[in-house]
Amino acid sequence: MNTLLAAAESVRSAVVATCQRLVQTPSLSGEEGAVAAAIRDQMQALGYDEVASDEVGNVVGLMRGTGGGPSLELNGHMDVVDPGDPAAWPYPPYGGEVHDGAIWGRGASDMKGSLASIVHGVALLRQLGIRTAGDIYVAAAVMEETGGLGTIHLTGHLRPGAAVVGEASDGALARGHRGRYEIVVRVKGRSVHASVPQQGANPHYTMATFIGRLAELRLGSDPFLGPASLAPTLYLTDQRSGNVIPGECSLHLDWRDVPGDSPDALLAQIRALLAECLRDGCTGEAELLVYEARTYTGLVTSMASAFPSFILPAGHPLLARAGAALERTFGARPPVIGWSFATDGGHLMKSGIPVIGYSPAQPDFAHTVEDRIEIDALVRGGGMPSALAQALTQEA
Ligand SMILES: [Zn+2]
Repeated sequence: MNTLLAAAESVRSAVVATCQRLVQTPSLSGEEGAVAAAIRDQMQALGYDEVASDEVGNVVGLMRGTGGGPSLELNGHMDVVDPGDPAAWPYPPYGGEVHDGAIWGRGASDMKGSLASIVHGVALLRQLGIRTAGDIYVAAAVMEETGGLGTIHLTGHLRPGAAVVGEASDGALARGHRGRYEIVVRVKGRSVHASVPQQGANPHYTMATFIGRLAELRLGSDPFLGPASLAPTLYLTDQRSGNVIPGECSLHLDWRDVPGDSPDALLAQIRALLAECLRDGCTGEAELLVYEARTYTGLVTSMASAFPSFILPAGHPLLARAGAALERTFGARPPVIGWSFATDGGHLMKSGIPVIGYSPAQPDFAHTVEDRIEIDALVRGGGMPSALAQALTQEA
């Protein structure tokens, strides 16, 4: 067996225990404090050269190289989405129980399994007495699920030569994804008693016309990532009574863009269409959703709901070198895919850091009550961080 895989196998029980502990520690976005502490403790126990937290609560562990090559960031987020009704789960969402060779629970696939595998995998290098050329940073970020505040903050002070994002890829190498933006369309009318609708201006009719014409908007397409999409999701009014004409209604649009699209250009199209749909004296506006984010460290900031799309060119040397390193470790060249969902990779790439993605976790389990990670895949995946750390910190 390959040396790195043998080393990964030798820490099987430790990786499983860490993954279970992370799954058993709830960490909704903005509430990652306990998981951050667990990761910090684990990094210290594994002999990382430095472990630090920043203002927003990200944890960064450093394994120093010899200084002879570019640095590498292995990035994973600590937050999870809400599990919903625990009764809908086959096993308790925060149980971290082992069944049928898998660890079950919220975040197992997205992405506490990956985090456990990365935290231990990087430490294998020291166990084997290997010193990489460049420095290795393991970055555990906050608030990815709500827009990526943690990684956006990291890009301000952590500037590696390249980054690997550990979102679920089922052992494939990911080189991009569509972006995700949330747009709010508001129509204002005039609220009156529902018994005299003719005296008011009911915004629903304008919005109904607008929704009916959404398909007229021109969306982009990418030869690798496929077409962009735009979907109405939430629909809200300013009323809670069924016998009142609302004064305002708002519609949320989920836009998955492709590289080359611009939010401003789409917003201009949306505003033009909305203007054509206005009736009964209603007015309308459209903008990116802005929300207030609060970190577990107490920092409050306004964030636009925006994950940029990204694509690493097929001929980028990072892809070839990562593919070769993974082939040496796992015995087969991993397929190259585009993720179907948005990740912190878009923020890293936008800031000028080239990004690839890799994880042993299966994307189909993410955000579902089937959330789990196969233990064999988790353990084998521990060969990835050390393989990529060696290969990608060598001078090209
Ligand atoms: Zn994720």
